[in-house]
Parts: sequence; structure tokens; C-alpha cells
Amino acid sequence: MKNKYLFLIISFISCVTSVKAVELCGVAKQGEILIGKIDPNQKAIFNNKEIISSNDGLFLLAFGRDEINSQNLQVVSGNLSGEETYKFAVALTEWDIQNIKGVPPRKVTPSDSDLAAIEKERKIVRASLKEIKNNPYWKSGFIRPVDGRISGQFGGQRIMNGVPKNPHQGMDIAAKEGTPVKAASDGEVVLAYPDLFYSGNTIVVDHGHGLQTIYAHLKDMNVKRGDTVKQGDVIGTVGKTGRATGPHLHWGASLRNVRFNPQSLLDMNNKQQNCFTL
Ligand SMILES: [Zn+2]
Repeated sequence: MKNKYLFLIISFISCVTSVKAVELCGVAKQGEILIGKIDPNQKAIFNNKEIISSNDGLFLLAFGRDEINSQNLQVVSGNLSGEETYKFAVALTEWDIQNIKGVPPRKVTPSDSDLAAIEKERKIVRASLKEIKNNPYWKSGFIRPVDGRISGQFGGQRIMNGVPKNPHQGMDIAAKEGTPVKAASDGEVVLAYPDLFYSGNTIVVDHGHGLQTIYAHLKDMNVKRGDTVKQGDVIGTVGKTGRATGPHLHWGASLRNVRFNPQSLLDMNNKQQNCFTL
């Protein structure tokens, strides 16, 4: 009898204080996105910010090009009685150097009035990347938005007409002008903006949980802000608007305003086979 009470007390204590193990799927490396799994009754806090998870406990983490090595993931049980902090390392990636010649000089060294326009546009794009939608559209997986040769990888340090510029924030896919561009996954169009200084005609599709894909330098745009799209829907065509030396799609990916390698989205289906427990 005494033992039975002791057992009940111990199970009660462990029930209110324990946090169940967290699983991360993918490779913890600069430029990558990972799928995390927690008990649906728990909350995940990543680098001191609470992050959204789906009804079945799935959430996303992404690491930028220059993400620092050590990361902090806190898991809190629903009734706040249990909390666990996990530290894990993010492996470094070696990024390429990309030499690009023949860029119109104004697009490499913008004038003062161009700089003012760029700043205004940046605010418009950033605002669309800050939206967080609850619907986990991203769970339907990702496809390549256009077939073609990859002419520029994510993360490359760019030297344009001999001038060092910011690292490349997406994947460039070269294709003929007018080639259809497809939505990489289900989502909602949060930006369809014409003629931005660098990215030209630009579409941003929101896939929920703060994950967006960006489609730049488009010739035509077939969607508008507020439209819902399905994976594979044609949202526009390949062009060379903005800062482009030839027709290509610049395909970008952003999670809660952190740019990462869109290639990592294409690997999403395989990530479930590559999980580790913290
Ligand atoms: Zn690009």
C-alpha cells in the first residue's frame, strides 16, 4: 500500500515536471532548414523567441548563411510546469565566390535617389516577410519552381564588375524568357510587386509558420496579393527585370526573416528519414 502511494507521488512529480524529447530532422548546418517535433502540448522557444508549431507538434528552424555555431532551443510544457533547454551546434558551410561581369553600372553603384527608392522597397518586402500565418501549408512539400541550369548558388560572395557586394540570398535558375514559374508549395501570395530596383517583378508566397518563398526578375506576374495558390500553379514567367544580366529565376527562401538555401526545401521530403533527438 505504502509503495503504491510512493509510486503515485513519483509519477505525479515526473508528469508535471518532465518535458518530452525533441526531435530535429535535417542537417544542422548554415543555410539549412530543419523540421522539429515536440509533444503538441509543449511550446518551443528558439534563441529566446517563441515559435509556432502545428497541431501535431511540428515546427521549423532555419539557419542563415552566417549563423553562429551555438543554438538554444527551449521546450516548455503546456502548463509551464516543466522546461528544458537544449544547446546544439550548427556546422559551418564553405561558401563560393561568384564573379559577375556586365552588370549595368547603375545597378552596382546606385545613385542617391536610387538608394532612397531601394530603402523604400526593402521596407515593403520586409513587411511581407514578417507575416506569420498559422496554416502549415509547407507540410505539402516543395518542388523546383522552374527547370533549368543553376546559374548561381545561395550564399556565394558576389563580386560585380569587380566590386564586392552582399552574398547571394537565393538560388538562380537560368531558363528562357517566358518559361512558366510554378509555386514551390501551397500557400498565400503576400507580395506581387512590379519593378523593384534589384529584384524586378517580385512575388512572395507564404507557406505558413513564417516560411516564405521569393520569386524575382519575373517577366509576367499572374497572381496578386491575397491569392491562394497550390503547389505547381503557374504564378508568373521567367524574365530579367531588376538587376539581372540575363533571363533567370532568382528563387529565395525565408523563415521568420532569416534567408536560407531554397535547395534545403527540396530536400524536405527526405528530412524525415534524417532525424536526431536532442
Ligand atoms: Zn539571384
